[in-house]
Amino acid sequence: MPASTSNVDTLETTKPEVIVDVNPATSEIIGHVPKSSVQEVSQTIENAQRAFQEWRNYPYPDRMRIFARFADLIRKDSENLAVLLTQEQGKTLNEARKEINEGIRAIELFSGEIGRMNGEKIESDRKGFIAYTLRSPLGVTAIVTPWNYPVSIPLWKIAPCVMSGNTVVFKPASFTPITGTKIVELLREAGMPPYVVNCVLGDGSSVGDSLVRDHRVKAVSFTGSTEVGTRINKLASEHQARVQAEMGGKNSCVVLEDADLELLTKDLVSAAFGVAGQKCTATSLLIVTEKIEAEVLRRVLKLVENIKVGNGMNEGVTMGPVVSQDRLDSILHYIELGKKEGAKLMAGGFRLKGSEYDKGFFVAPTVFKDVSMDMTIAQEEIFGPVLSIIPVSTFEEAIEVVNKSKYGLSSSIYTRDLTKALDFVQRVETGITHVNIPTNHIEYQLPFGGIKDSGIGPPEQGKSAIEFFTASRTVYVRYSW
Ligand code: NAP
Repeated sequence: MPASTSNVDTLETTKPEVIVDVNPATSEIIGHVPKSSVQEVSQTIENAQRAFQEWRNYPYPDRMRIFARFADLIRKDSENLAVLLTQEQGKTLNEARKEINEGIRAIELFSGEIGRMNGEKIESDRKGFIAYTLRSPLGVTAIVTPWNYPVSIPLWKIAPCVMSGNTVVFKPASFTPITGTKIVELLREAGMPPYVVNCVLGDGSSVGDSLVRDHRVKAVSFTGSTEVGTRINKLASEHQARVQAEMGGKNSCVVLEDADLELLTKDLVSAAFGVAGQKCTATSLLIVTEKIEAEVLRRVLKLVENIKVGNGMNEGVTMGPVVSQDRLDSILHYIELGKKEGAKLMAGGFRLKGSEYDKGFFVAPTVFKDVSMDMTIAQEEIFGPVLSIIPVSTFEEAIEVVNKSKYGLSSSIYTRDLTKALDFVQRVETGITHVNIPTNHIEYQLPFGGIKDSGIGPPEQGKSAIEFFTASRTVYVRYSW
């Protein structure tokens, strides 16, 4: 190889690498964000490990005060943060505002949860003994998150993790690095001591991989795809780190003949098409009894007609773009497969073109009917604004269809029949289920997590938030002999 070529190679590999952060509505570059090197990841873990020794003994009221200031700072800056979120991720400004409010709710709830970091006193068999359990923090925790909820997901993990005395190395998704960095900046401004919450940026396959492999990392809390979650679980388990992985979903909503269809269609606007369908809890399959299929379809098509797709910054827009060209291509690929495999396309099914659409990644809200569970669009997570209607003859068949999915995140049933509703709740194989409430409804004081291919390890949120981030220890004391 000539010397000059070799020099060019060397120069290129030593240049600091950057993430080119692009607005999915306009393709404008928002920023160039430097990626962390593998050495920086290692140094960050070391810093977090050192900070742990002090942070674990930091008084609880002082921890709570930092999080209270953090919530206030986010509240004060919420409009700027919402604009950043919309420009970086693509969701509408209203969706961004809602996500930020949810993030504040997570901070306030989980900073109070510290009261649940309790053990229990249990009667000992022996006279003169006291026996009890207590909970201790684990150490350095890796938090790896996706781009679809870049504020609320990190916050509902970081708050309980740090409140319970752990230190964090946080890796946000590469589509939303500026939002991720901003969260950590605000936490520092709120008075968080150095190196308690740290951020590393860059590709999952290098930065994320080296983080979760590191034996100094004692726990990994991950949200993202099933493929990556499964890999992370293997890597982290090799050094006995605890893993919690919230992964992909393919969520069904069953509609019975006595359902309130007005309520259903109102709920579907956000459940199926909100955030352009890029929600792990999005309703993707609508399982409808044959007698009401035509009426449900008519209502769904009407709601789709009223969705205004565009740049989420613009007034009146109700659905933004999908996050990237790759995601757009993948969604269009699934739509083609759906057509090929025999589903009937009733709305959308194409990339939106013309004027503002040409610069961004916009998909028309899409509806298929006559879908069956042997079709790819019924089995795989499309993660876009695509709703598939599956006709069934009976309630029994509906349950069978829901449980045919390899995923088990969320489900829902719309009916006024209490017996059928509760029968569904008992038999459906999902971590979260709803009656007359859409699949995307969650409240942080309850556990959140999937089963089957949707989750590994204990759920997040609720009581289990503190349980995951702490170890239970057992103590025996002889006080008289
Ligand atoms: P993803 O590709 O799995 O990425 C998630 C995070 O993992 C990102 O920060 C990513 O970094 C990182 N990562 C990728 N490869 C890695 C590796 N080998 N080692 C360590 N980290 C790695 O998922 P996504 O595309 O961001 O998000 C969409 C998926 O998330 C969907 O499947 C959706 O259902 C799921 N999700 C699930 C929930 C839930 O609670 N169940 C909630 C929201 C989203 P890069 O960004 O740099 O690749």
